[in-house]
Amino acid sequence: QLDFHPTGRHFLQIPGPSPVPDRILRAMSLPTIDHRGPEFGALGRKVLGEIGQIFKTRQPVVIYPASGTGAWEAALTNVMSPGDHVLMYETGHFASLWIKMATRLGLQPEVMAYEGIDKHLPHAPSWRRGVQADMIEARLRKDTERRIKAVCVVHNETSTGVTSDIAAVRKAIDAAGHPALLMVDSISGLGCANLEHDAWGIDVTVSGSQKGLMLPPGISFNAVSQKAIEVSKTARLPKAFWAWDEIIEVNKSGYWPYTPNTNLLYGLSEALDMILGQGLDVVFARHQRWAAGVRAAVNAWGLPIQCADASVYSPVLTGVIMPEGVDADAVRKLIYERFDLSLGQGLGKLRGRMFRLGHLGDSNDLTLVAMVAGVEMGLKLSGVALEGSGVEAIMGHFADNPSQAVGQI
Ligand code: PLP
Repeated sequence: QLDFHPTGRHFLQIPGPSPVPDRILRAMSLPTIDHRGPEFGALGRKVLGEIGQIFKTRQPVVIYPASGTGAWEAALTNVMSPGDHVLMYETGHFASLWIKMATRLGLQPEVMAYEGIDKHLPHAPSWRRGVQADMIEARLRKDTERRIKAVCVVHNETSTGVTSDIAAVRKAIDAAGHPALLMVDSISGLGCANLEHDAWGIDVTVSGSQKGLMLPPGISFNAVSQKAIEVSKTARLPKAFWAWDEIIEVNKSGYWPYTPNTNLLYGLSEALDMILGQGLDVVFARHQRWAAGVRAAVNAWGLPIQCADASVYSPVLTGVIMPEGVDADAVRKLIYERFDLSLGQGLGKLRGRMFRLGHLGDSNDLTLVAMVAGVEMGLKLSGVALEGSGVEAIMGHFADNPSQAVGQI
């Protein structure tokens, strides 16, 4: 049995799964009920009635008992036909996994990426910046035959800590007068960064439970538009379990066509009470404030932040690039073993070059100061030269910028 740390609380500072509030854990511990009984119907109607507020949509939100990867597959299989062309922008590892999935499903993804020069990561300049909407517009303008059926972008790239301006992508599609669907992965953005499914004209928003919603992994979402529903009626990729039509129909009475994830739905109900009770704007401001505090620490250390564009810093996580020659995974291992603190590893092209600090879920100022303290001790023990104290910087940031949420909950 692994028992490295018999006492104290583990610091789960990966960018999802995020720490789950006790209130949600308690709600989930209730007995599982009959998923065809009246009590369940009331629960189903509640969560289905409220979840749209989180996506800022009045259209259906489909909830799957699956991880986010399942919801990616659901999004593509519902609206695509074999051989369809899709324009997919590569901002990082998760964008590239979605591209890989599109290929496996028999689609023809056209990959777009920023190709400028990057001093710190010359092999991955596109993994330090958000989507360049003007590139999308230029490509769509050239697609006079309208072969491109969808534009796929990631709202918050969890592998890098970079967000993308989704409203700008919508504008780019409209400016080109192109009919492509807009499909957005907001698996880690939802509930942390503003997302406006209807106002931004998103056709399918994909999300998951284990990030901003503060739930364990296990349920995921497709928020859909009327246009996407229309397209799904004639789309020809095989779909059965993922098919929206049957689920949306049965959902009308609060049930699912199969056994839903009952206890995670108890948790979702509690999460909705917490998030909507506090108000999304307060929730977003909290994440922005935490992120600014963590960035103050990284800047004080004198280490580069993975996101090279300050206008698209993620409120969810911050990537920290290690000096040349330092193995980021060795630093993470030391921090885990010595301080019981889990950090996100560098994924794909970033393996060993950086680590990720999550600032989401059931956190507060002091848990984040503790995270920074653990990282600072680990960096020093690993022999990484630091310019200054990140702990002083984050404490100063939080002291100088009191929480807007004080007195609200
Ligand atoms: N997309 C993004 C942006 C993610 O962060 C993740 C998981 O971290 C996924 C997709 C895949 O989701 P899952 O691991 O729940 O299948």
